[in-house]
Formats: sequence, C-alpha cells, structure tokens
Amino acid sequence: MDFTMQNLDGQIQNKNVQDRDKLDIKSLNLQELTEELAAQGEKAFRAKQMYEWMHGKLARSFDEMTNLSKPFREQCAERYQYTALRMLRMQESKLDGTRKFLFGLSDGNLVESVWMRYKHGNSVCISSQVGCRMGCRFCASTIDGLERSLAPSEMLDQIYAITRITGERVSNVVVMGIGEPMDNYENLIKFIRLLTDENGLHISQRNVTVSTCGIVPRMRQLAEEKLQITLALSLHATTDEKRKRLMPIANRYSIRELMETCRYYFDCTGRRITFEYSLVGGVNDTDEDARELIALAEPLCCHVNLIPVNPIKERDFVQSEAARIQAFKNKLERNKINVTIRREMGRDIDGACGQLRRKNLAEASLEDPAQAVTEGSAAPPVQEDV
Ligand code: SAH
Repeated sequence: MDFTMQNLDGQIQNKNVQDRDKLDIKSLNLQELTEELAAQGEKAFRAKQMYEWMHGKLARSFDEMTNLSKPFREQCAERYQYTALRMLRMQESKLDGTRKFLFGLSDGNLVESVWMRYKHGNSVCISSQVGCRMGCRFCASTIDGLERSLAPSEMLDQIYAITRITGERVSNVVVMGIGEPMDNYENLIKFIRLLTDENGLHISQRNVTVSTCGIVPRMRQLAEEKLQITLALSLHATTDEKRKRLMPIANRYSIRELMETCRYYFDCTGRRITFEYSLVGGVNDTDEDARELIALAEPLCCHVNLIPVNPIKERDFVQSEAARIQAFKNKLERNKINVTIRREMGRDIDGACGQLRRKNLAEASLEDPAQAVTEGSAAPPVQEDV
C-alpha cells in the first residue's frame, strides 16, 4: 500500500475523531440550537433556517445551506460536528422491493437499516447502537458485544439518507435494527422528539415503534414521557425458566415484573403493547406455550407479532415448521388475540438483522471505509456519501 495514502487515511480518521469531540449540531432541538447560535451572536431566525435545512430539507452539509452566508457556514463547519452516513451496500429484494442498507458512520463503524414498502406507506427499520450487549441467544447483532451507542443525529441520518436515496417519504419508523434502544435511552427520546417535530419530518408518534428486550426501569420511564409511540416487548417465552435460556435479560427482570410494567405503560399512555414472539422449533412453539401466551396477552389486550426465527449460522436454533406456526397462530386467534405473523420481507436478501454488518466486518477492505474509497481497490458495490 502507498505510504502517503496511509497517512492521508490517518488524517481523515483523525479529523473524524476530532469532529466527534465537537458539538453534534443535528442532535439539538430547535430551542437548544437557538441558544447555541445566540451565543455566537446569531438571531433566532438563523437557527430556524438551519433547523429546516437539517431536519426538513435533509441537507448533507453546511455547504448546502445556501440562504446562510458563506462565512457563517464555514464558521459552523469549523465549530460543529455534522454527522453524515456513507452508503456501503444496498441490497434490493426482487420479491417485494425491500431494501437493506449498510451504512458507515463517520468513525468507520457500521450499522444496518431496512426500507420496506407497505400499502399504508413506507417503513424504515433503524439501528440504535453499534452492536448490542444484551446477548439474546438467537440474535446476530449481539455476538461481538456493544461497540457504542448512536447519537440522536445518527439515528435520524438513517431515515434522512433513505428518504434521499428512495426519493419517497417515510411514514413509519421502527427501532428494531441493531442495538437495544432502552440501553441508549436519553438519545432515543431525543431522536423521537426530533423525528416527530413539526419543523422536521413530522412523522406521527403513532407511527413510531420501539422494540425492547424488556429493561423494566426504562420502560417505566418511557411510560412517563407520555409519548404516543408503540412499545413492542420482545417476550419470546412465557416462563422465566424458558426465557432465561433465550435471553440473559430474563435473569434481571421476571415476566411478572414485565407484565406489571406493560400494564403501567398502557395506563399511562393508552397505547396497546405489542408482544414479539420469535418461534423457535421445539423450544417455544408448543400448544402449551400458545396457551400461556394467551394468558399473558389477553388481560393487556396485546397485539402479538409472531416471528419465525431467522436461523443464524453461529447458533443452532431452527425455525418452527410452517404448519406449527399456523397452528400456533390459529390457537391465539381462536382466543380472540390480535395476532400477525411477521411477513418475511426481503426473504431473498441477507436475513436476520445484524448479519450484513457481521459479514462486512469480516471483509478486510470494509473495516475502514475511508481506506476502501481512497484505495479504490476491492471496491464494494457502492460507496456513496448520502
Ligand atoms: N433490542 C431490541 C430490538 C431487537 S431486533 C429488542 O430486543 O426488542 C427486533 C426483534 O427481532 C426482537 O424481538 C428480537 O428479539 C428479534 N430477533 C432478533 N434476532 C432474531 C432472529 N434471528 N430471528 C427472529 N427474531 C429475531
């Protein structure tokens, strides 16, 4: 490798690291931005303009903010961190048009996001952390542990980038990608408020779903925020004993505590909870499991979303037989439980969440995206700042 190129890469990396110490301007709400710019002697309307550029027009840099003076834009570029993503891969399903994205963050870390087209609008599934420390046995995202949490801006960037790439409005956002959102609570709340803000994309709170493995104190805190979002609980088992085999978090919080917390969430917000239940062949898919699930879901009027487990190569879990899945669903339906089987969107593209990132981490040329671009060798399918 050319030595000067290595140096150049080093500089790019250093700049990104330095930038990360600067104030992350896209994570500020309008009031915070107004105060920040006021401290620089700028009038409130400048903050409004800049906010619109960032969260309404989805600008990729200060440079695009053409109604702000050039010296001011340059000063901002010097002073603040402006997060941006680089699209490293995009896979599109031939079956249903679902698109899966691998994005590089400014420090070279990788996250995944998925874009799905439904009759009722476009939905984006975002990551909330780089990796995860929850250790669920069937999940690919957690195998290498947690690298770091995402800033509010970095969660927004995934939606902003996909909106620009597809040219279509996103109407639903689900926080079900890599990471445990409740393990990044403050940033998650900031993200939701920015995403649903009337001066930004103004996505309805009712169209935002946050999925958690069940961190009870954070679920209670979320209830008290009184947001109108949907909370999805990854239940996956109906007894503590079984749940502990699938999810280490079950050693911390019992199903009983979880159910009390779901009740509290419902009482505080009036929003029904969704139970996610990944069906694992021979583990949690018997008639008895179904009966117990009905007993848990019924008093809370929960919606149950059945997910045929997506086998990952690092573990030996298998999917339940199709007939078993159907029988399980029928049993719930007969008992008047509102139940759906998660449609397997994009079946022909990389399956379980976290697998694309893992696959790419294994490919040396992508470990350092900046380097891959500079070298221009072993180029991945796409390399685009978005
Ligand atoms: N940390 C959050 C978001 C995780 S991903 C949570 O635990 O809820 C969203 C859902 O997919 C969760 O219910 C998760 O348990 C489930 N999931 C993860 N890997 C899976 C796999 N290989 N097969 C089926 N479901 C999986």
